[in-house]
Amino acid sequence: MEVSRDMQIQAPKVPHLVILPIPFQGHINPMLQLATLLHSKGFSITIIHTDYNSPNPSNYPNFNFEPLPVGLSDGQVRTKDLVTILCILNDSCQAPFHDRLSRLLLDGPVTCIITDELFYFTKAVADQLKLPRILLGTSSATFATTMASLKLLRQNGLLSITVGPLYKFSPGSSNSLLTQDYSCMAWLDKQAQQTVIYVSFGSSASFDKRDVVEIAWGLANSNQPFLWVVRPGSIHGHDWVELPKGFEEKTREKGHIVKWAPQQEVLAHPSVGGFWTHNGWNSTLESICEGVPMLCCPYLLDQNVHARYVSHVWRVGMQLENGFDRSEIEWAVRKLMVEIEGKEMRECVGALKENAMRCMAKGGSSYESLESLIHLIMSL
Ligand code: UDP
Repeated sequence: MEVSRDMQIQAPKVPHLVILPIPFQGHINPMLQLATLLHSKGFSITIIHTDYNSPNPSNYPNFNFEPLPVGLSDGQVRTKDLVTILCILNDSCQAPFHDRLSRLLLDGPVTCIITDELFYFTKAVADQLKLPRILLGTSSATFATTMASLKLLRQNGLLSITVGPLYKFSPGSSNSLLTQDYSCMAWLDKQAQQTVIYVSFGSSASFDKRDVVEIAWGLANSNQPFLWVVRPGSIHGHDWVELPKGFEEKTREKGHIVKWAPQQEVLAHPSVGGFWTHNGWNSTLESICEGVPMLCCPYLLDQNVHARYVSHVWRVGMQLENGFDRSEIEWAVRKLMVEIEGKEMRECVGALKENAMRCMAKGGSSYESLESLIHLIMSL
């Protein structure tokens, strides 16, 4: 537990703690266990909680519960994308939390706020109301040490072995475990420049039947040419993916579907103007290196971080925030492919591609790192 305080605690007669858990199971449990423990030591407890995944007040009759409206949409909740939900909560909770806490302070003093370390917005509120804040980390001490060490590792030059993008150093090499269907290259040749959206979610992402129906109609209704990789086994519990009735007739002129594509060649083809991706790191890097802006739809783990960087930091793509919904897909595909926002993303990814090429050229960081690696190996 970390204590952040630069002011003296004015202890009220019955010390009153305001506790704000993050609404995820693995975070709610330890926070309420800590609250129970502190209550048994004589503290009065107010739990301020989001109206999403609220704890059940009847299980804690000795605590005062104050709900916080956070306005998460059903679509946002359905994504089950914890990183996105966390970012939204950090944005949306600050004002209502400040409001709720200010009202509590009218009734009497608050000794301090105890909150989850991932609720970083609470620092601003605690500072404004001059309240001390204690953070509970709910992961292991090892994880905290690792996070703290990253900066140190970088400062000491121990995170400098950046030799990518490797596929650009060894073009033409293919290690594909699945057979790549080259029929799509001839189809791409017939399409106009930068008009095709390439859709592929990598080798392991899988979906519900309903998601595939939404993807199909979203693509069809966008009226943009598309090349869609429909990998067998990518629907939970099914070997092959059945597309909705009427979809193939409607998209015969506009779309091409393969089970697995030669992705690097596809992304380098001049008629490809956008990539709807799950943001696996290889796919993300290949898209950047071919100057193709992205529609991001992360599936798990690091893909969430890549998608956030693509959309919010590098601004070379946009993220589907509400899961799979045909009208949002139609809207997003058109935004990426034909509207001004897509044009801006295409310009940004062009600049990023040039940066990547500079890194790989003689004197660039990747080129030099590779040289250092070779020298290191030769010196062993
Ligand atoms: N890939 C491919 N054909 C496809 C889809 C993907 O050759 O139809 C390749 C793609 O070029 C990339 C790799 O498979 O190099 C996928 O790696 P990534 O890290 O993007 O995602 P993962 O499959 O590990 O989730």
